[in-house]
Amino acid sequence: MSDQLQMISDIEREVAYTRHMIGRSAFSGPVMQAIREVPREAFVPAAERRFAYDNGPLPIGCGQTISQPYIVALMTDLLEVDEGAVVLEIGTGSGYQAAVLSRVVKHVYTVEIIETLAMQATETLASLGYDNVSCRCVDGYFGWPEHAPYDAVIVTAAAQEIPPPLIEQLKPGGRLVIPVGHPYGYQDLIVVDKSRSGEVSEKSILGVAFVPLTRSG
Ligand code: SAH
Repeated sequence: MSDQLQMISDIEREVAYTRHMIGRSAFSGPVMQAIREVPREAFVPAAERRFAYDNGPLPIGCGQTISQPYIVALMTDLLEVDEGAVVLEIGTGSGYQAAVLSRVVKHVYTVEIIETLAMQATETLASLGYDNVSCRCVDGYFGWPEHAPYDAVIVTAAAQEIPPPLIEQLKPGGRLVIPVGHPYGYQDLIVVDKSRSGEVSEKSILGVAFVPLTRSG
């Protein structure tokens, strides 16, 4: 079996183990198709390339990590977005999550606080032809107000509380997926729904381990 097919079957096995927590026994066709299509090896440093299709996180430099493929697929699936959606991502990192999302939705706006990573990710995404992703280097706590409101928002760094600007920038009927908890400690993956009338409700999905959402200044 190729490394990439092995990764797909590892993701499917983990979905089966966690199905009661995540409320689904499979991810959508478009999400799994995107995971199959995006070459993860292009998003990891050369020294990590032989582990690119392991179902685990990997270092990407600057003390940051590319998330585990199962978590990337889970968060993409939890957004419940379609090909017309415009999505905001906080924490571009390597650009891999943005690339996966870009195969499923119309446009991805992604922000990264570390300039080196923002530049590298922009380059990687451009070299692979993912032209429906826009990346910029800012503190994602404040979102990216110019393109709001978004159909969905995904945060790939752990926050101690949900940043209010991200809820403001979500469309009524939209969804935010975010890890919330202690930096380097226990975190819950939270799904936040904003109803058509603007009420906000939250549910916790499962325990996760993300690098912290930092603040500029
Ligand atoms: N989605 C990434 C993984 C991200 S790791 C991928 O697919 O590779 C989390 C990233 O969030 C790190 O790159 C970190 O620098 C970034 N980050 C942390 N705090 C941030 C903030 N306030 N605004 C934007 N990015 C932030």
